Amino acid sequence: MKYVKYGKCVRCGRTYPAVPDLTTCECGGILDIVYDYDAIRRDLTKEALAARPERSMWRYRELLPIEDGTEPPPLRVGWSPLYEEGRLAEELGLGRLWVKDDGQNPTASLKDRASAMAVAKAREAGAKVIACSSTGNAASSLAGNAAAAGLETYIFVPSRAPKGKVAQLLTFGATVISVEGSYEETFELSKAAIDRWGWYNRNAAINPYLSEGKKTVALEIMEQLSWQVPDYIAISVGDCCTIAGLWKGLKDLYAIGFIDKLPRLSSAQAEGCCPLNRSIETGEPWHPMEENTLADSIAVGVPRNADKALMAIRESNGLTVSVSDAEILAAQQLLGRTCGVFGEPAGVTGTAGVKKLCRQGLIGKSDTVVSVVTGNGLKDVANAVKACGEPITIPSDMGRLLDAFAQRGIRPE
Ligand SMILES: *Cc1c(COP(=O)(O)O)cnc(C)c1O
Ligand SMILES: [Zn+2]
Repeated sequence: MKYVKYGKCVRCGRTYPAVPDLTTCECGGILDIVYDYDAIRRDLTKEALAARPERSMWRYRELLPIEDGTEPPPLRVGWSPLYEEGRLAEELGLGRLWVKDDGQNPTASLKDRASAMAVAKAREAGAKVIACSSTGNAASSLAGNAAAAGLETYIFVPSRAPKGKVAQLLTFGATVISVEGSYEETFELSKAAIDRWGWYNRNAAINPYLSEGKKTVALEIMEQLSWQVPDYIAISVGDCCTIAGLWKGLKDLYAIGFIDKLPRLSSAQAEGCCPLNRSIETGEPWHPMEENTLADSIAVGVPRNADKALMAIRESNGLTVSVSDAEILAAQQLLGRTCGVFGEPAGVTGTAGVKKLCRQGLIGKSDTVVSVVTGNGLKDVANAVKACGEPITIPSDMGRLLDAFAQRGIRPE
């Protein structure tokens, strides 16, 4: 790979050649992929990028760890829309607000960015089988992207995973193991199985290429904003690979001179499962927590990528905000009503955090914010109904319609 130097341990600094099946350091630390920014600076310009027709995450190939000859996997991943949301900005009391709807990826979450990368690297490694454990979306995205590329998948999910996500897995032809236990226990079983059968490992905390896929969300946001850096980027945090990837993308752009400052990150977690935010707030190492939230995708009591995420939040002088399940459901409704964007609970947690930070006066009128919606609400309709209630149900009868409107104070014009 022309632009990749090596993988470097974030804990001890040891470096490793960037082979396709690279995993963690001998010391147990997670690796970070290191690039030759001087070479990228020479070869990649904003103008050259703007002229590329490719509307997917692969338009940033100089900043991605794949070989020249590697075909990107077939599904179109990335280049999701970034909407400016004036009405919501006003309602929240913000200067300007943009929503990046990453629920529009092929399997309906930001995880497609990592899974597409996993499939590309598995092909380079000559692997026929990929496996992962997941709270749901890493699984469904891996199953979909692998199916499109003709690879076999073994997927471990906790039994609490919402039906929509499990339906995706089965539809994509994965072998699905539903583990009766926490995400932590699910992860451990997947690890043991991967060791036993030697499958390609798509666990984001082990495979250092995956956050390189996830970072493309940051590359896109900045290109879509014409390289004008917002004050904050808000995102939900579970296993911690997403926020770490987001930060990596921003730092890449800074290193090659495409942006001249860095935004502050806003790390949003659920109050019932916020080990990372707690660690930042108390200044102590993180401690495991219960997985006590309906936002299943971020219910991760033992985050696997905490090192990188803690560094990212601290380096960015970031904010932490933890929200209740009620606040998450309210944000789901708010995004739907004001933006027409339908996010799953973990998908809207970043926005729930923005709302709370506005109320607390920590951000406001003078601030510009990008909020990333990380997953689509159709994956988990049970919680959407909880958030937004039931429809008016009546027989086909005008009298009953008028009664129902009168009861609810609805006055059609
Ligand atoms: C995985 C996921 C997250 C969080 O990403 P982590 O890398 O686990 O921190 C947020 N939202 C959705 C919808 C996800 O699937
Ligand atoms: Zn190490």
